[in-house]
Amino acid sequence: MPHPSLATRASLREVRYDIRGELSRRARELEAQGRHLVRLNIGNPGAFGFRAPPHLQAAVAAHVPQSDPYTHQQGLPLAREAVAEHHRRRGTPNASAERVFIGNGVSELIDIALRALLNPGEEVLLPSPDYPLWSAATLLNGGRPVYYPCRPENGFLPDPDEIEARLTACTRALVVINPNNPTGANYPPELLRRLAGIAARYGLLLMADEIYDGILFDGATFTPLAPLAGDTPCLSFGGLSKVWRACGWRVGWAVLSGDPLRIGDLHHAMDLLSAMRLCANVPAQFAVPAALSGPDTIAALTAPGGRLHASRRAVIEGCAASPHLQLVAPAGALYAFPRVVGPAAEEFDDQAFALELLESEDLLVVPGSGFNLPASRHFRVTLLPEAEVIGDVFARIHRVLERHALR
Ligand code: PLP
Repeated sequence: MPHPSLATRASLREVRYDIRGELSRRARELEAQGRHLVRLNIGNPGAFGFRAPPHLQAAVAAHVPQSDPYTHQQGLPLAREAVAEHHRRRGTPNASAERVFIGNGVSELIDIALRALLNPGEEVLLPSPDYPLWSAATLLNGGRPVYYPCRPENGFLPDPDEIEARLTACTRALVVINPNNPTGANYPPELLRRLAGIAARYGLLLMADEIYDGILFDGATFTPLAPLAGDTPCLSFGGLSKVWRACGWRVGWAVLSGDPLRIGDLHHAMDLLSAMRLCANVPAQFAVPAALSGPDTIAALTAPGGRLHASRRAVIEGCAASPHLQLVAPAGALYAFPRVVGPAAEEFDDQAFALELLESEDLLVVPGSGFNLPASRHFRVTLLPEAEVIGDVFARIHRVLERHALR
């Protein structure tokens, strides 16, 4: 008798990653049939014609001949020193190369950190909506996501009292995604101070996903969390994927800060897990010093006259032109998270809506429920296409919503 299909991990059944889920598979089928889709589902700058800055490309190309050996598990010393110096400049306490981990993207480091931290059943406080890798990695590493709401009425900022109300004896970490994916919220210093205070009072690890730290609009400024956290253990994540438009190179970093007596075990565990995967992609690590000490190339894209500035404006205008959409204008990052309102929102199913946009309008978006936001009337689009394309995208979205409103 043939054996049944191989069993896989039970916990995978709880895990979702809708950014590349069922809708993406259907999109590939449609493309194979010759349809031309606008892929608004992934913050993939290279797919929209953005390039990594030339000085980063030159740094990688120049060092390919030196890139054959494995590096130290935490990364090339010169890359780690560049990250440490960058963090010292922004005030991260005691930032040193020894406390920097270079990974194959922030994605790998999020997984390593949660694997190092969590015992079965321990809880991680996550924003809802979240960037779903955080939920997935928490679940797969035996933990339990506990969501704190970030509501549009409050500019998608969390309420510290609601976070505190969710603490239990099992809570281990507080995750802060700032600037935020999917909402574009940029957290003000006073809020960050209060979040750091909660972690300090309850002995939590702060996990600050700051991969969009250079992508801000209309004069908004970024506040890093670690300098406000002081002695409280904090892991700050950053990388080349977004601010430097080099997501295919797979380079990210994590910086561990806080009381040395409290972070030693976590450091050791992350070092061990890093060693087991040997090292991160070596040629691309040589771009890190070039990125962190070279010219700022993102401001020209986000400032008035820049391409991202124009695209964000087109998204804001596209939402304003439809009575069926409400938007909290994104202050940063690469996404907008509009909400469907009014008659079009009645009996709304965000997955069915996204499928309809794909099948009838050739648009691939991510439904809000893909970001661990139950009963969502939101969807996420990336700001990366050219402004003219975005204008056309919102005309198509409006057309579908008009049909919904008449049902
Ligand atoms: N964190 C956030 C909030 C993201 O949006 C992403 C990618 O979109 C990542 C982490 C992972 O980035 P990477 O693995 O490319 O460094």
